[in-house]
Amino acid sequence: MTTVAFIGLGAMGYRMAAHLPKHYESVLVWNRNFEKAKQHATEYQTQAVSLQEAAQADIIFSCLPTSQQVNEIIHQVDIKSGSIWVDCTSGVPDAAKAQQAFLKSKGVYFLDAPVSGQTIGAENATLTFMVGGEKAAFEAALPAMQAMGKLIKHVGDSGSGFAVKAVNNMLLAVHLCAAAEGFTALKAHGVDLNEALECINASSGKSGVTENVLPQRVLNRSFPNTFALPLLNKDTGIAVDLIHQAKLSAPVITLTQSLIGAANAIAEPNSDFSTAVKMYESWSKITLE
Ligand code: NDP
Repeated sequence: MTTVAFIGLGAMGYRMAAHLPKHYESVLVWNRNFEKAKQHATEYQTQAVSLQEAAQADIIFSCLPTSQQVNEIIHQVDIKSGSIWVDCTSGVPDAAKAQQAFLKSKGVYFLDAPVSGQTIGAENATLTFMVGGEKAAFEAALPAMQAMGKLIKHVGDSGSGFAVKAVNNMLLAVHLCAAAEGFTALKAHGVDLNEALECINASSGKSGVTENVLPQRVLNRSFPNTFALPLLNKDTGIAVDLIHQAKLSAPVITLTQSLIGAANAIAEPNSDFSTAVKMYESWSKITLE
């Protein structure tokens, strides 16, 4: 019998772990605020256990804010030889390489397996997993990832999954900044933003931002708090580090990181990522609605 554990029941992890009991008899959950683990156990027939017990599972998922918290936990617990640690955090590629090497010395596999699809994708088990690490470990953990995702891809060696995720989220940030600027200009020229959005979403300038973020979060002024701006700021920082490490020049990416950093610095703590448009609104005194 395969035992699966999930460490980190935040906005993503709580919903992701909810699917595992449909496929596995024994699902262990741990969260720093342990009340959440107990609530998860009651709601989804998982078992709330200690961190050490969770680390004894055959497949251990983690989904924490950054690689730093994952690193602290990996170095704090005993993990049994032969198990697979699947880190769904949007983490740092170099940290994945170090964690893989550390765990390999204990006979444990490590996969960097960040996800995209936001909380709604976690809820509907339609996430995309972009996975780096050993192919054999990927194949062994695939059924567990399939319980929570739709598109699951092995993208390369250790660190590759985190790299793909960082570039994906950088593109989200680029599109968000560009859309905020473009729609501010349209409003300044008296254009109806909802009609403009329909035209653009049937045209070549559309993106995930124009199709989802603007209509569902910005123009209706709801800014639901599902993916925190500090987390997007962290992801764009990882993307910029990748550029620097490869000694590349990437002016759009570098500028976007500065813009997201500035928006994050003036935002309310833990605001949704979409509130980055409010920085533009404060500059132009034009509200995107
Ligand atoms: P949340 O802030 O909602 O949850 C963070 C989780 O990490 C909580 O369970 C929290 O525990 C735990 N945690 C924080 N610090 C520590 C620590 N020092 N030790 C142990 N546990 C800790 O984050 P999300 O679920 O939104 O994001 C998690 C990861 O997934 C991030 O890397 C993010 O970038 C990525 N992601 C997020 C998406 C989203 O739409 N939200 C989409 C795709 C990826 P506690 O409850 O005790 O605070």
